[in-house]
Order: sequence, then C-alpha cells, then structure tokens
Amino acid sequence: MAAFTEDQIRRYSRHILLPEVGGKGQRRLLAARVLLLGAAGPGAVAAGYLAAAGVGRLEIADGAAVAPADLADSMFFVHADLGRPRAHALRDALAALNPEVQVNTWSDAEAARVGAAWDLVLLGAPAAPAGLAAWPNARPLIWGAARGAHGWRTALALGDGPSLACVQAAAEKAAPPAAGDVDLAAPVAGLVGSLTAVEVVKALLGKGELACGVLVRCDGLRGLGERVVCAPRPGCPACGGERVRERSG
Ligand SMILES: [Zn+2]
Repeated sequence: MAAFTEDQIRRYSRHILLPEVGGKGQRRLLAARVLLLGAAGPGAVAAGYLAAAGVGRLEIADGAAVAPADLADSMFFVHADLGRPRAHALRDALAALNPEVQVNTWSDAEAARVGAAWDLVLLGAPAAPAGLAAWPNARPLIWGAARGAHGWRTALALGDGPSLACVQAAAEKAAPPAAGDVDLAAPVAGLVGSLTAVEVVKALLGKGELACGVLVRCDGLRGLGERVVCAPRPGCPACGGERVRERSG
C-alpha cells in the first residue's frame, strides 16, 4: 500500500487522526471513483466536500450551462462561468480546491455507457437521466435534491429495496410542490449537499449505517428533519417481484 506523501499527511491529517477514518480510510477515499449526475445546487456542494475529503476520482455528467440562477445556489460557480458548461465550471473549481483529485466530465450518454465503472453514483438533481434504473450495477446510489425551502437526501442500492422512482414519489408525497415554488433556496442546497456528502463518505468508508430506502427530509422553514421510510409502490415495474418488501430503519 502506497505511503502518504508529506503533502497528503498535512492535507488529510484531521481524517488520518480520526478513528472513524484513519490512514486506511483515507486511502479508500483516495482510491474511490464517484460519478456525479447533476452539477448544480446540492450536487455541486456535495462534490466540493468530496474533493476536499480527497475522493480520488470525480466524474461529472451535466449537460446544462451555468445560468444566473446557478450563481445563487452554489458557491462553486463564479460570475465569469456564466454560459460555460456546468460540468466544466465545477471541474475547474474542484481542481482549484484540491489539485490531487482527478475530475473528468461526461455527457449523460457517455456516463450511462460506462455506468458500471463507478464505486458510487451521486445523483445531485431532482430527476434521474433516462435509463439510470436499468444500469447494470449494484453499487450504492445517493440522491440529494432540493426545492424551495425543502430538501431530501436518501441512499439506495440499485437492485435492492425501493427503486429511485418510488423514493422520488415518496419525496413528492412528503412535500408536494407548492404554488410559486422555485427550484431551491441557496442555504437549503448547501444543507442537502452536505448531508449527501456525509452519506457518500460513509458508503465509501463502509462505516456507519447506509440508510437504504430511507428519505431524510429537511424543512428549512421549520428547522426540522424527518426520516421517511420508502416502500415500493404497488405495480412499480422497477420494484416488482421479490424486491417488494417493507423496510424499516
Ligand atoms: Zn419502484
């Protein structure tokens, strides 16, 4: 196992000294590959913490360009990024934060073709790219999204437990869209992105409890968080057969 460089020891000293991470855990983070789908809002915030934590490879898929509204919910885009592809702007910001992290950008179609290569998929957008549920892997998927003053974070292992579509339906039920809702409020994007990054790091380290199929809902206005246990919806084609069962936790 490769020894840490002096720079790595200085940069990651707090992790290395932490019993929950240690040198072994930091090496796992440095060797990890995470695919980020959606580079705005919570996705960008989560990616920032993952780069800071030393997650070795971050692959970003996001087909949109940086819009003025993106500047209001992510601290990783700057005014000069307006009109640039969001994936490229985030890549440059992450590289500036931690030059050791390899950051690549992909189109959604390219990401889907090589989906099995990731240790973990982080969905940082409200909706998943078409075909995500059919990706041939059993790696964990962590979803973080926000709308208005509400946000959600959940984890699910593809192929086990409720499908992403069922979890997203439960999110809509827990906090239905309200008149005048906009995409999200900036601090809520930060809150959800941070919660999502914590879940990703836990999954990569194999520590703690990965809350599969459990939706954590944050209510920014009331200062509340609650856990919603998601069940497969009757008749959901993605959940059918033996996977249909109640989960608790
Ligand atoms: Zn389902």
